[in-house]
Amino acid sequence: MLTTHPFDTPDEFGDKLREECGVFGVSGAEGAAALVALGLHALQHRGQEAAGITSWDGHNFHTHRAMGHVAGNFDRDEVIRALAGTVACGHVRYSTTGETALRNVQPLYAELANGGFAIAHNGNISNAMHLRRELIRRGSIFQSTSDTETIIHLVATSGYRDLLDRFIDALKQVEGAYSLICMTPEGMIACRDPLGIRPLVMGKLEDSYIFASETVALDVVGASYVRDVEPGELVIVKDGELRSIRPFTAIAPRPCIFEWVYFSRPDSIAQDRSVYTVRKGIGAELAIESPVEADLVIPVPDSGVPAAIGYAQQSGIPFELGIIRSHYVGRTFIQPSAEVRRLGVKLKHNANRALIQGKRIILVDDSIVRGTTSLKIVEMMREAGAAEVHMRIASPPTTHSCFYGVDTPERSKLLAAKHNVAQMAEFIKADSLAFVSIDGLYRALGEAKRGEVLPRYCDACFTGDYPTDLTDHDEQASSQLALLDHPA
Ligand code: AMP
Repeated sequence: MLTTHPFDTPDEFGDKLREECGVFGVSGAEGAAALVALGLHALQHRGQEAAGITSWDGHNFHTHRAMGHVAGNFDRDEVIRALAGTVACGHVRYSTTGETALRNVQPLYAELANGGFAIAHNGNISNAMHLRRELIRRGSIFQSTSDTETIIHLVATSGYRDLLDRFIDALKQVEGAYSLICMTPEGMIACRDPLGIRPLVMGKLEDSYIFASETVALDVVGASYVRDVEPGELVIVKDGELRSIRPFTAIAPRPCIFEWVYFSRPDSIAQDRSVYTVRKGIGAELAIESPVEADLVIPVPDSGVPAAIGYAQQSGIPFELGIIRSHYVGRTFIQPSAEVRRLGVKLKHNANRALIQGKRIILVDDSIVRGTTSLKIVEMMREAGAAEVHMRIASPPTTHSCFYGVDTPERSKLLAAKHNVAQMAEFIKADSLAFVSIDGLYRALGEAKRGEVLPRYCDACFTGDYPTDLTDHDEQASSQLALLDHPA
């Protein structure tokens, strides 16, 4: 979910593009909130700045939302006990700090004509600002700056009577990516947008149903994986019974390819494939496409590890841990400022000097976004005495921003948007740099190549081929053009 509209320039609310989320829901288990807290722990990598849980005890909804990690907020007995009931859902997210952010922390909750309604959202709605302006014009009063709240207002103002009809009516008006877990006094609804951009899986734990962004969250509570919630599917759990409906016109799914490259945890299974195995496969493709003579293959931890193993196995060059990572620092990419990001890189990684000294090394990472991480790591390897530093990236160049729920900066800040590979190599000060090709990435996912007409995945960050309209983005661009045409 997105806290404002998808542009990196500060908007009227002073927020920026930031979203990375995970959702988890349990229907029909004693102490549901405790299970949700466990599930959110396993999804913490999807968003580390805020977490929330909402429960339903048969009479009332209870919510606890807080800035910070799941641990620290949901490991106290009194917090979990207050979230009474057998149905609960939760959310982890990236956000800004302070009060403005707290009101955006999910699940969001509202009292509607049909009763209470809680919603947890992973993804991003690409026409949220457009809809929001129209809803405000018609009298809606927004409590947050979150795109997710737009869905609540569309449900609230729908002309249909029944809650499910209202919900479907709302979803038919939104464009973009949404994997949702919603709660009403009647039950739980889990659904995925027609393209299935963000993941959502279904599991079973004794008599209860579980929904989660990734299978690792099923593992942590001991639930068994049943199947993925299908793109365009709504799964409704009511009185312990499960029902599935598909209210949208069927279209070819385009799940996010970046989940495979970076976002999902390697121990997750998605579309019947192990994320870890796919990442190793990407590394192997990279070794075939871009070989180089060297002494060691070294992963940039942790995101580059599986691809580096694949590269090493394919090339026959030994895999070694040449960079040691401190596990007590958060992810660098999602720190608020460039300065903190820069410091974060130094805090997080250290060279294994004894190993590096005098060696020709191949560094493997999953992606280059701004180039900050790669530059620091290459410099660190040289300081540690590396003879040559070759960088290999287990994704194609990230040339376009994501409008579907992955936190990427605006296009102008993406290193690959304005530079070719040779210029990027110079920027990161590597002796050579290569990215896996888009077809190589598809091959690692079991496809012969990227289908030009109907690609199997949303790969817009690498190709600019966005599978939906980008209404907010286009409206913003045209209003900027209008300003240029008529300067004040
Ligand atoms: P940068 O330093 O801006 O080039 O960022 C690249 C690093 O950030 C890589 O090591 C990736 O593992 C990581 N990364 C890429 N995309 C994301 C994302 N959306 N959120 C957090 N980290 C990311």
